[in-house]
Amino acid sequence: MGNICAEEILSVLKNEIEHYEDKSQMQEVGTVIRAGDGIATVYGLSRAMYGELVVFETGVEGIVQSLEEKTVGVVLLGSDHGIIEGSKVNRTGERACVGVGEEMIGRVVDALGNPIDGKGKIKTTEKRPIENPAPGVVERKSVSEPMSTGILAIDSMFPIGRGQRELIIGDRQTGKTSIAVDTILNQKGKDVVCIYVAIGQKSSTVAQIVNTLSKHGAMDYSIIVAASASELAPLQYIAPYAGTAMAEYFMYRGKDVLIVYDDLSKHAVAYRAMSLLLKRPPGREAYPGDVFYLHSRLLERSSRLDEAHGGGSITALPIIETLAGDVSAYIPTNVISITDGQIFLESELFFSGIRPAVNVGLSVSRVGGAAQTKAMKKASGNLRIDLAQYREMEVFTQFSSDLDASTKELLDHGSRLIELLKQPLNQPMSLHAMVISLCAANHKLMLDVPLKEIKTFQRNMLAYMEKEYHALVQKIEQEKILTDEMIEEIISGIKEFKSR
Ligand code: ATP
Ligand code: MG
Repeated sequence: MGNICAEEILSVLKNEIEHYEDKSQMQEVGTVIRAGDGIATVYGLSRAMYGELVVFETGVEGIVQSLEEKTVGVVLLGSDHGIIEGSKVNRTGERACVGVGEEMIGRVVDALGNPIDGKGKIKTTEKRPIENPAPGVVERKSVSEPMSTGILAIDSMFPIGRGQRELIIGDRQTGKTSIAVDTILNQKGKDVVCIYVAIGQKSSTVAQIVNTLSKHGAMDYSIIVAASASELAPLQYIAPYAGTAMAEYFMYRGKDVLIVYDDLSKHAVAYRAMSLLLKRPPGREAYPGDVFYLHSRLLERSSRLDEAHGGGSITALPIIETLAGDVSAYIPTNVISITDGQIFLESELFFSGIRPAVNVGLSVSRVGGAAQTKAMKKASGNLRIDLAQYREMEVFTQFSSDLDASTKELLDHGSRLIELLKQPLNQPMSLHAMVISLCAANHKLMLDVPLKEIKTFQRNMLAYMEKEYHALVQKIEQEKILTDEMIEEIISGIKEFKSR
């Protein structure tokens, strides 16, 4: 009797062990202890992962954001209406994902990839996790191809390369968004997918941007991800990661992507709000201790892959808003240290009519020089130095009346350069237009043109050159080079134009 019993027990045990499945992991159901302000504290999800997607009774989803001993903190990705103490929460075992693919192009979506443009459902077949590790060092290639902005002041002095991260920083209303939007417009016909992520902005501002892009036919290759100021902080928090996930889809298929994060200051503020609600200890300026990681892990995902991995790239243009030009505040210094350079925009320049209001002294592009076209490199010459000399001399000679000839020439040259670098909105310049304009300035062919007429002169001169020197213009555009003979030809062309 005893024998049989033991065998029975043994077989039952063996069977149990063989068919053991850790079902409880997935079927774990938690209970809400507290909910409000878009945050829920949940008891009983002891095996939930950081970043895991959970589903509430009401169908609303949430992401596990903090792991405590007995409870987890979950941020809600929708309304907390109906989520009360005692509500049930189910694990999904998955990380939060967003729909990606060609179908997204031309659409305006929210932080979760749902359409908000009223053009119907987006039928994506693929999903990518919102949070994804950045490509490793071995998968990468150095930056060597230009991502032209079409803005003379930037392409000539602070060139941006594909796979680079260039910060656009400045006070409010200094033209930050305009630079990003103009750069998107300039990608027309260049086979670059553009993604504009709006974080914490007014819906009307976003609508205006969509309008500008559609008007110039740029929506054909763009995606807009919008988490406006009225959205919950968690949605504003995940919007840039979701946008990057969409960008990665294209990058891993060998395409070039341009992504704009407008802006990361508001992103940090949304994260701070979320973290305080999750009861994380506040640090400097009440931001949580990991606010650096917030942006570093985001921007690290922008890169250029080598040929073995498809050769795609993500170029990032993060935007940061400063207060009274203070670049040494917490968030600005963080992002400056993560990016490969910055375009610094200044209110003072902006209001004195120098637009785009790029501060030449404080802006820099650390890797883009390698990506600048030969033509541009040769044409831009000593532009930065000339401008710096002019600035210095301008202050120095402000009150003196009798200047020697060389000082006067330096001043005249400098003031004409500044005039030349002014550029109206939504009018990106092509390579040949930039090269010819710079040649005219560098070879002092505009010193006799009155300051007020520089822009008109430039416009007419370019029109003349395009008409009379078509082959030369074509050569610059196609071969992207500028030989000494070509410079001679440009100079004689401009002289011809002037003599008319
Ligand atoms: P915010 O801080 O509100 O986001 P911003 O720094 O993004 O502002 P924009 O919205 O790009 O600035 O520009 C502010 C205003 O300046 C806009 O009305 C825009 O039309 C104008 N503006 C920007 N750049 C230029 C330019 N190059 N020429 C003329 N006007 C410009
Ligand atoms: Mg803006």
